[in-house]
Amino acid sequence: MNFSEFIKIYATHPNYKSPTGNRLHARSWQTEAPLRMLLNNLDREVAENPEELVVYGGTGQAARNPEALLQIIKCLLQLDEHHSLLIQSGKAVGIVRTHPEAPRVFIANSNLVPAWATWEHFEKLKAEGLMMYGQMTAGSWIYIGSQGILQGTFETFAACGEKYFKGDLKHKLIVSGGLGGMGGAQPLAATMAGATFLGVDVDAERIKKRLSSRYLDHICYTYPEAKAMILNAKEMGIAISVGLVADIGDTLEQLLMDGIVPDVVTDQTSAHDPLYGYVPNNLTLNEARLLRKNDPDKYRELSLKSMARHVGFMLELQRQGSVVFDYGNNLREMARQGGEKNAFGFNGFIPEFIRPLFCDGKGPFRWVALSGDPEDIRVTDHALMEAFPENLQMIKWLKNAEERVEFQGLPARICWLGIGEREKAGVLFNNLVKEGKVKGPIIIGRDHLDCGSVASPNRETEKMIDGSDAVSDWPLLNLMANTGGGATWVSFHHGGGVGMGYSQHAGMVVLADGTARAEACIRRVLFNDPAMGIFRHNDAGYEDARENMKRFNLTFR
Ligand code: NAD
Repeated sequence: MNFSEFIKIYATHPNYKSPTGNRLHARSWQTEAPLRMLLNNLDREVAENPEELVVYGGTGQAARNPEALLQIIKCLLQLDEHHSLLIQSGKAVGIVRTHPEAPRVFIANSNLVPAWATWEHFEKLKAEGLMMYGQMTAGSWIYIGSQGILQGTFETFAACGEKYFKGDLKHKLIVSGGLGGMGGAQPLAATMAGATFLGVDVDAERIKKRLSSRYLDHICYTYPEAKAMILNAKEMGIAISVGLVADIGDTLEQLLMDGIVPDVVTDQTSAHDPLYGYVPNNLTLNEARLLRKNDPDKYRELSLKSMARHVGFMLELQRQGSVVFDYGNNLREMARQGGEKNAFGFNGFIPEFIRPLFCDGKGPFRWVALSGDPEDIRVTDHALMEAFPENLQMIKWLKNAEERVEFQGLPARICWLGIGEREKAGVLFNNLVKEGKVKGPIIIGRDHLDCGSVASPNRETEKMIDGSDAVSDWPLLNLMANTGGGATWVSFHHGGGVGMGYSQHAGMVVLADGTARAEACIRRVLFNDPAMGIFRHNDAGYEDARENMKRFNLTFR
């Protein structure tokens, strides 16, 4: 198939789709894999807004513009195993001489010199066509739809249940804002954990998308209707989810006026971006669109003020007894800028629930069947259950996921695994490909939100015990370790999750194509990558990480 035929079938803007099956379009699986994942990120089933090349997380893009995207596709179709492609904020800028075990693609997205790292400066560069926002897995081509955050959200709600409700979320109500790409995982995660859930989003279309993917049970257009439904479900102990079309601040205010104190309150609106993400209170979506275009400064001001008001209600609910936590969108910082002096009066979810997992090198391991055949994921799920019979939590998750998770785009699975486990799983998948038990190669990656790949003082590295929250040497070391280890593509981004100026983070993806070369790369990368989390937390002084240094033979000899 020549280039123009390929584009016609798989990449005619804005209709993108990954090829499936076992036939190569690029020159090897090492370049076919990033090509398929790039197109998969933009698939209408996967991406929130393919017209703008936006995958998730506010404005997180997979490529800078349609022309840049075509150029990347062209390069990937031609690239051999002795060269690697350089991507600068979503645009191909060069090809360098490398070798077969080197990464085939090096990606740098949204990076700015620290003193210039603001949304304002970034937006200026973006308007001039010089940059794009890569979020975490959007610009690094390893987004897998809402499932990508589903297990993490499930673990977080379950951990919250353990910590505050004796392990039982039945008869408990969780309220949150934002049902977008990531936030859309909340309703399913909450009901899987046994809770009743109310999710509030200003955009009815976003809520409908969650209904059609079966992540959400009901949509309501008025507060009284939603209130009746959730109060009844909470009373009866029924784990259902309701999506209400409204402003989250207004809904929290109404709950307070009605004397309803949810058991848990959190938020996943795109608060990290006060201009293109969060929608200010009292504006319709259309009014917001117009204001954003005509008076961005005014929009930003209203947005920050609305977030201050929103967080004010969260703090009041906390005072009245709700468990309140920040869910990784930098809402507290934006509310602080909007005038809420006590914005950091509640904790982020990492110090609350996740840090002990990071000390074990655990994080959001994920894999995708490049064949496009859902049966391949079923085979990997079952192989994992057999290989880790002692990991009952993982088995429960995989069974639940098999039953309840609809695939978006290429079939994929997420499963939090730790050091040792990830290498074992990776080798297992490579063997399944080698033995022909799956119909095509599998790629293995993770979110940048991982144990040793991110510096983000309001999120992953909030309240480190040695105060090293803002030290970003760690994600750079992670990038170098994964490049040296032979990941198939690597990335370094700025601003993911929490916005410009607030985070730096690294990503990696490694291919399992059944070859001995792939096994060698997998063994190095999937061991070193979680080991970085143990190094980072050991260095900070966490006792569990210190124990893991000894257990996994990571101490200096
Ligand atoms: P998204 O842009 O796809 O969705 C955000 C949603 O918020 C949209 O549907 C929007 O309509 C809604 N919204 C905006 N203002 C609102 C308001 N005032 N009231 C009600 N709804 C409102 O973003 P996403 O991918 O779902 O990510 C959500 C946030 O979570 C982002 O800030 C992202 O950076 C962050 N994030 C968190 C994690 C995590 O692990 N916790 C991971 C990735 C991203």
